[in-house]
Amino acid sequence: MQPFTYTGHPARVIFGAGTTSKLQAEVEALGIEKALVLTTPPQKDQGDALVAHLGPRSGGLFSGAAMHTPVDVTDEAMAVYQRSGANGVVSIGGGSTIGLGKAIALRTDCPQVVLPTSYAGSEMTTIIGQTDAGRKTTQKTLKVLPETIIYDVDYTLTLPPVMTVTSGMNAIAHAVEALYAEEANPVLSLMAEDGIAKMVAALGRVQAAPQDGDARTDALYGAWLCAICLGSGGVALHHKLCHVLGGSFNLPHAETHTVVLPHALAYNALAIPEAMKALRRATASDTPAAALFDVAKSGGAPTSLRELGMPEDAIAQAIQITLENPYYNPRPLEADSLRATLQAAWAGDRPAA
Ligand code: NAD
Repeated sequence: MQPFTYTGHPARVIFGAGTTSKLQAEVEALGIEKALVLTTPPQKDQGDALVAHLGPRSGGLFSGAAMHTPVDVTDEAMAVYQRSGANGVVSIGGGSTIGLGKAIALRTDCPQVVLPTSYAGSEMTTIIGQTDAGRKTTQKTLKVLPETIIYDVDYTLTLPPVMTVTSGMNAIAHAVEALYAEEANPVLSLMAEDGIAKMVAALGRVQAAPQDGDARTDALYGAWLCAICLGSGGVALHHKLCHVLGGSFNLPHAETHTVVLPHALAYNALAIPEAMKALRRATASDTPAAALFDVAKSGGAPTSLRELGMPEDAIAQAIQITLENPYYNPRPLEADSLRATLQAAWAGDRPAA
């Protein structure tokens, strides 16, 4: 075994169906006297239900969370937080809502209880991205790491079918890259392989029966493992491309991960023999990149950058930005090969075996 470094982040995780019943006790255990509940406009009803559940420990609801954590939204939420006398937050939603809770924690160091309802994985990371005047900056700090995560499978039953697949692929991407990132280590690889295996198998079952509680449980458990990979591991070409495409061309987060992952993996495949062995086991396929493409396609998710609205002539600019400030990658980045990779992702070609 090669020497390695493993960094674990502290987190209390409560997992299962109906686990929201533990919220009141968890808020109390953190010493939160009043919690401001956070969510997005479409999830306002779920936020209202948590306000009712918290009773006198609720500091009210802010339901204006938005994609990419815009600072003007955070300023608005901060004003509500201060007026309410809250000393903690409860975030219910996907990465956008969790991002707002992290932004408040960054400014106040308050404790956070998070109830994730998508598979994006922000709840397990020390990463916070914020957008000011259209410019996104990202930082890592333990200040934003949520103290308690309540994974309640029941919320994921309402994830629309296509979002289930794109969010699941977003999670899988974190684990795939943890297998071959510079920070790869045997402990994370265990979690990565099991996370991918659970998610890939569950997505097929959820597609056949969206209300299948066992399949939804496996998907959320897989998402947690994949989230640990993002929080404690590293990233490589796939995440770099997604950050470039999301940041420069405003492409949607989970959908971009879904389209790019099979192609980024195909780019690296020959340079990552051990990771490919794990991926063959996890996807139950000799051709993991093609298998992941098939998961997206059969789930009705987008499989091309063209469908996401990226103009074909933007490929050259995307490559230029990628090469200007590259992340670590196991295979050296070459402009011609990257062009072929992005061209295939743009057109929606199935990666070759
Ligand atoms: P999102 O949070 O923007 O959610 C998309 C929409 O789906 C929202 O309207 C949301 O309310 C709704 N939704 C969420 N769960 C639902 C459910 N169970 N049922 C019905 N509707 C539901 O999307 P996301 O993909 O979860 O998160 C993406 C954002 O998170 C991006 O801004 C990304 O940069 C960020 N992110 C950050 C990290 C990090 O570590 N900081 C990690 C992953 C993602």
